[in-house]
Amino acid sequence: MKPDTRVVHTEVPTLTSRPLSVPLYQTSGFSFDDLDAFADGMTRPDGAFVYSRLGNPTVRALENAVAALEGGAAALATASGMGAINAVLLGNLKTGDHMIAQHALYGGTLALLHDLEERWGIAVTYVGGHDPEEVRAALRPETKVLYLETIANPTGHVSDLPALAAVPGDDVLVVVDNTFASPLLCRPIEHGADVVVHSTTKYLGGHSDVTGGVAVFADADRHRATWHHSIELGVTPDPFAAWLTIRGMNTLALRVRKHERNAGILARRLAEHPAVGEVHWPGLDTHPSHAVASRFIDGYGSTFSFDLADADAGRRFVTGLGLVRLAPSLGGTETLVLHPASTSHRQLTEEQLNANGISGGTIRLSVGIEDADDIWDDITQALDR
Ligand SMILES: *Cc1c(COP(=O)(O)O)cnc(C)c1O
Repeated sequence: MKPDTRVVHTEVPTLTSRPLSVPLYQTSGFSFDDLDAFADGMTRPDGAFVYSRLGNPTVRALENAVAALEGGAAALATASGMGAINAVLLGNLKTGDHMIAQHALYGGTLALLHDLEERWGIAVTYVGGHDPEEVRAALRPETKVLYLETIANPTGHVSDLPALAAVPGDDVLVVVDNTFASPLLCRPIEHGADVVVHSTTKYLGGHSDVTGGVAVFADADRHRATWHHSIELGVTPDPFAAWLTIRGMNTLALRVRKHERNAGILARRLAEHPAVGEVHWPGLDTHPSHAVASRFIDGYGSTFSFDLADADAGRRFVTGLGLVRLAPSLGGTETLVLHPASTSHRQLTEEQLNANGISGGTIRLSVGIEDADDIWDDITQALDR
């Protein structure tokens, strides 16, 4: 063959051993010897790999790993956490349906639910999350989804998942965003959830270097049905993003334990500082969700908030830090801080902010895995200012 042809056709070597790490299949598609296998692969999530929007071996390795961690039948990895939430909601709801959701939700999710209601005619009823009777009262014949978060952002609100998930019948899909707990602290499927979603951008990836999401399904048929919709939606992750997430997940157990230990140290010190009002870490026995969280979560998470006097104090604090950086996101190795009222929750109305327990002085801290004393030194010098 001529050089022009040779440069296009690089041969993949045949292996007689296996790689220790998950290989990166950075390809948009796969070639076949068999036409029937090709055609079949396009119709289901568990056929041959055909086209990376439909499935990819590196992405599948991530899906299988998270499905196993969560105790689900199968998973769908996506390009972002919002991609996973969209795939699950749009893939399982239609105009005229109704869903029930807790008040305290991730800002992007609240914005999506608002849009689903306004533009797609999907009614939403919000509940507090502690009282199963409130969910029972909200149920309608057209209710299709109950949507909860294990540990809510930024106030550490924990809904009584085991009690709430037991209320609706089998026709209602119980969806739980488990981003803040990670599957090491809580596996919602064990407590009645049908679908678990994650922003893998956070603790699963864990290094602030990749955006991604995943939805884990207790039931394989529900996974298949949602896959059919998700490939139309096109929320597939790039194989390299899945590869980075897998690499990050290798150290999840070590990271989560250190995050958790640091969060406990900082929450207790903050609670005693004269400039700090309420500390919203569910590990403190003064937190309204402490008892509920202790029943079904093996820890309390490491992203939480605390209250300073007012918006001015909040703004001065977040810009007065050195080691701790003012940035979005959470769950990375480094400690980050943000001011929810002016950034992550800015889409919310005054009423929604109050319902979510956020004031102008509320500060959110994503506690990293540095030495707790170094983080504390930076926090105290900023508080002293
Ligand atoms: C970040 C986050 C999301 C959205 O995830 P992206 O990866 O940013 O799309 C959803 N839920 C929670 C709880 C989050 O923290």
